[in-house]
Amino acid sequence: MNTEELHRWDLAHVVHPWSYAGPSLMIAKAKGTRYWDVDGKEYLDALGGIQNCSVGHSRPELIEAAKAQMERLEYVPMHWNFTNEPAVRLARTIAELAPADLNQTYFVSSGSEATESAVKLMRRYHYLRGDTKRATILCLKQGYHGATILATAATGFENLQQGFGPLPGGIKFLTPPHVYRSELFGGEDPVEFCIRQLKQVIADEGGDTIAAIMAEPVLTVGGVIVPPAEYWPAVSEICRQHGILLVADEVVTGFGRTGAWFAGPELGMLPDAIVFGKGVSSGHFPLSGVIMSDTIAEVIKSAPDGLMHGFTYCGHPVGCAVASRNIEVLQENKLLENSKEVGGYLLGTLKEKLRDSPIVGDIRGYGMLLAVELVSDKATREPLQFKRQLLADRIRNEHAVVVRSIGANIIIAPPLILGRSEADTIAHALEEVISTTNTDGT
Ligand code: PLP
Repeated sequence: MNTEELHRWDLAHVVHPWSYAGPSLMIAKAKGTRYWDVDGKEYLDALGGIQNCSVGHSRPELIEAAKAQMERLEYVPMHWNFTNEPAVRLARTIAELAPADLNQTYFVSSGSEATESAVKLMRRYHYLRGDTKRATILCLKQGYHGATILATAATGFENLQQGFGPLPGGIKFLTPPHVYRSELFGGEDPVEFCIRQLKQVIADEGGDTIAAIMAEPVLTVGGVIVPPAEYWPAVSEICRQHGILLVADEVVTGFGRTGAWFAGPELGMLPDAIVFGKGVSSGHFPLSGVIMSDTIAEVIKSAPDGLMHGFTYCGHPVGCAVASRNIEVLQENKLLENSKEVGGYLLGTLKEKLRDSPIVGDIRGYGMLLAVELVSDKATREPLQFKRQLLADRIRNEHAVVVRSIGANIIIAPPLILGRSEADTIAHALEEVISTTNTDGT
């Protein structure tokens, strides 16, 4: 089949997620940090798939693990007390990597299923303990938790909710600790503002009606918002005082992206549950889950009517085998260390090259997760509105580097195997495109 015909069929028969109508880039092959399209053009994937291909594309060890597992046992349910060795082994490894007593994992397939499951499981825990009033979930504005209907309701972007209602209730939003956006805090210190607001919401709602706070330790879609050091310890303490469970959505940050197995504990966030996905299997198989404390798991497991919640692909043996090998590859190749080292280098290089641009407001990063926030005016910090192509599209078309534009933010999240010279290529591509973009977005 020729390329033109494939593109015609794509337009005629495929509905793309998160896309505008129009032609798409057809990728035929991937390896390491690289993509090749159907015409053989090479791209540097500075987004690591969608922040998930941590060990790089088409990693031989993971392909081998998937193949071997498929040949041995391609599928078995986890329902009705069935289990399988890869799921058990992975759960055991995760218990070793996760903080404190977060020793038990509920496996699903996507990040959205995992956040959705976390909400159900946290509510169920309270219910089983007789704490039946606790239902409300607090989330952060500019937080992203997925695309299922509950995850959409928990996502703090109105434009992502438009036209999908009615959305489930029981979700309330808090201001994110986005220090650069000082207008959010009316002149008050950002952490003091956020904590005062949280205490006020608890007082207004009644602390005993709130089931959980669910939030990303570092907000990715929101623009790689890294909270100040005091923020998560203070939120964790308030949760503990009021019996509110703290759920860390580490779908992006988990399994090494920020240079730690989990970003929350590094930032002083002490969660009762961690939601993970993406990097656990580096994009080689859909896998995600909820890691929870022994306390929560024991209550849920011991319910007389069992756990009436599950999906066909819970604990898929191929996904779990791939994830275990993925974790070994991350360890064997010191990729968490590389994430910190090369991520830090890339952040420094971006700051050096872009700092003086009239449209660059802020440059943020945490390990191999970075953002450049663009403004039309550095003094007012007015977000840049684009009049022609999104900057990510220009960076891809003009420099063959794949990044992502979300509003006025450019997000960079390369595979953790990235080298310094590739970091230079990314920084150069951004510099070239930003230097030819005007303050009016043209
Ligand atoms: N949570 C966070 C923080 C995410 O960034 C995402 C996806 O980007 C999700 C949840 C949903 O994951 P998925 O797209 O696999 O459903």
